[in-house]
Amino acid sequence: MGTVLVAGGTLIDRGTRTQADILVRDGTVARVGPDLRASADRVIDATGLCVLPGVIDVHTHPVYVDDLQSLPVTAAHGGVTTVIHYAYAKPGTRLLDALGAFREEAESVSLLDFALHGGLFDPQRQSGEIPAAVAAGVTSFKMFMTYAKLGWMTDDYQLMRTLDILARAGGMGMVHAENGLATDYLEDACNEAGLSPVETFVRTRPAALEAEAVGRAIAMAEVAGCPLYIPHVSAARALDVITAARRSGRRVYAETCPQYLTLTNCDLLEKKALLKIGPPLREDGDREALWQGLACGTLDVVASDHAAKDKRADDDFFAAPYGSPQAETMLPLVHDGVAHGRLSLERMVRVFSENPARIFGLYPKKGTLAPGSDADLALFDAGARTQIERASQHSRASYTAYEGRSVVGAVVLTMQRGRVLAERGETSARPGGAQFLATAAGRADVRELG
Ligand SMILES: [Zn+2]
Repeated sequence: MGTVLVAGGTLIDRGTRTQADILVRDGTVARVGPDLRASADRVIDATGLCVLPGVIDVHTHPVYVDDLQSLPVTAAHGGVTTVIHYAYAKPGTRLLDALGAFREEAESVSLLDFALHGGLFDPQRQSGEIPAAVAAGVTSFKMFMTYAKLGWMTDDYQLMRTLDILARAGGMGMVHAENGLATDYLEDACNEAGLSPVETFVRTRPAALEAEAVGRAIAMAEVAGCPLYIPHVSAARALDVITAARRSGRRVYAETCPQYLTLTNCDLLEKKALLKIGPPLREDGDREALWQGLACGTLDVVASDHAAKDKRADDDFFAAPYGSPQAETMLPLVHDGVAHGRLSLERMVRVFSENPARIFGLYPKKGTLAPGSDADLALFDAGARTQIERASQHSRASYTAYEGRSVVGAVVLTMQRGRVLAERGETSARPGGAQFLATAAGRADVRELG
């Protein structure tokens, strides 16, 4: 595979910023230091650019218009080098069958190394398979505390039972934390009152019911002795509950997503079905609290929740599916916050790379650029001002949530294990060659995360 020298860039890694070249040999980092002057088969000039460990996007849904082949491509253009997909085991499906099918297909078509979360739609029948899944390298499992009408909700009995199984198997619980039955009642009441669908949506998924579900899940995880990961935290009140639990020593990790940092329910009123996501977009005060949580370390991870669907703004709101394309715009959008002083560049790298690697047990193979690590990196122009447009995106979705938005920062090149995948908007590698990564989720001490 040969040698690659990434020369002249500013390396942002493990909380520090240094002028450093990186010598890559056979896909792994061989040497890191200033002015290496090593000879190499290929030299990549990174003068004036930041060199970041590749983004680990731990929240992706490759089962809609972006699939196991196209999702990693759009993600790679956003500086992502590792994805953790939700492998959903729908009712009537065996968990191990679902995981096996995802793994097999991703190994043959994916551009990016990947791990899997198990998505439990029927824990009553599926949770018994958790120990075998853990042995096969899948160690994080998500349940829905909402979507009762869709038949996806896990009740407290099965949630408690599954967290108990996870604790004994050495796995980690994850929950979509919103109170599903309370939401369903509110929705029925609003429909009777004749409110508009968007108004109904916002009123029936209030922050209080996210905070309540977060607290309930944390309590059950404490009783079970099981680590817990809360994806897509959207509300200040939910973050307060998590922060208090962490202060009292609970192993609870928290993630937010770029959409909750950059959009509010005012955008939802304008773009309607395009911005139908769950939990919903919230108030400006929530957005501010999430940026603060990222800066001060109560939020550990930013991930995309990329779930690209074909939608139009005026689609029937309640019939429209949840989700939006996010993986490619995630890094520039969060970096725009860095450019505006909301958090440091060093901290941004931690929430995108180091922390996810530590929480899911992929560190230091992934999430850093130390000698011996996989040579997964992104070259990033921190001074470039670009405009986000659907036309320049690589997602198969028909829109971006950020059309016309100007951001500071652009991904110039993405490399995985020494192989250049994407460069200035052009895909330079063929899909395939991805490695399945066994995780060891939930072992990292919350206080040791950066
Ligand atoms: Zn999701």
